[in-house]
Amino acid sequence: MSGTSITSEIDFDASGKQSGFLRLPHSVHRSAYGWIPIPIAAINNGVGPTLLMMAGNHGDEYEGQIAISRLARELETADIRGRLILLPMVNAPAAQAGVRTSPIDDGNLNRLYPGDASGSPTEMIAHYVEDVLMPLADYSVDLHSGGSSLFYPPTLLRGQGHSAEETEALISLQNAFDLPYAWVFTGGGGRGSTARTAMGAANRKGVINVMAELGGGGEVTPDILKRTERGLRRVLHSLGMLPDYVPDHAHGTRELNAKGSVHAYAAGLFEPLKAIGEDVALGEFVGLIHHPDTPEAEPDRIMSPYQGIVLCRRAMAQVVRGDAVYQIASDVEPRTDQE
Ligand SMILES: [Zn+2]
Repeated sequence: MSGTSITSEIDFDASGKQSGFLRLPHSVHRSAYGWIPIPIAAINNGVGPTLLMMAGNHGDEYEGQIAISRLARELETADIRGRLILLPMVNAPAAQAGVRTSPIDDGNLNRLYPGDASGSPTEMIAHYVEDVLMPLADYSVDLHSGGSSLFYPPTLLRGQGHSAEETEALISLQNAFDLPYAWVFTGGGGRGSTARTAMGAANRKGVINVMAELGGGGEVTPDILKRTERGLRRVLHSLGMLPDYVPDHAHGTRELNAKGSVHAYAAGLFEPLKAIGEDVALGEFVGLIHHPDTPEAEPDRIMSPYQGIVLCRRAMAQVVRGDAVYQIASDVEPRTDQE
């Protein structure tokens, strides 16, 4: 077996709608024999694929947590074909605290896959998702946002696919989700490697996975929440799991490749000079860092080492050297056979 000591209050093989908690054993001063509750719901009805939907991987990313909870309330057994597993607060201690990483062990869940069955609480969650939940699933959706420090427009994230069949399935999910942007990972195992993320876990288990970045800045943006909820229902419908839903027309998705982040090289207050979606030229001044502690000092100018468009920007004004203030991306080049 998987070796996990996390137990589930719900039976993944049972038909119907269930909700309860995953119980993560946690022995501490105020509770010697206690467990950490990780909320989970499942709706299982007849023949169809299994979709694992998660949010709260980072605890300060809220749109997905709300959208998944709403699905858990609104969808009934008769609405669903197949099996839908919902985890609105997968790193529950982090989500409870409203912070990116777990206050118990400082664990960043999305950097800890494949996890460890006998490791820290966050490592145990990663292991449970990868070794218990992913093997149940055909598809998975992991919902993120810019968190407290960054702000993203609604953006789907996906790999390129390891086969023509997988690529087709990923593009179909992207079209169904119908967010304004898609960030297509080009892989390669380097800095942008997804191996330690839920996407890596899905890839290792042969699960078709997309992620999404949905706002951020420590708040909930109503328009983005609506796009998220619409997208999730459209995804369920596209997989044949929500047959009675009638999708409206698609708006279309602009596919991007990330080029890199622009970083602050001084401490101070960041003034963005570019908005999300705006074009950026190579070497262009894109922001200022002000020094109100030395009012006569000229602000530092931030130059972009990349050409492209602004995909995300920093939401917090205070910066120190090394903080990312923008992420720059460029349009995916159309494939050509003429080279
Ligand atoms: Zn995240």
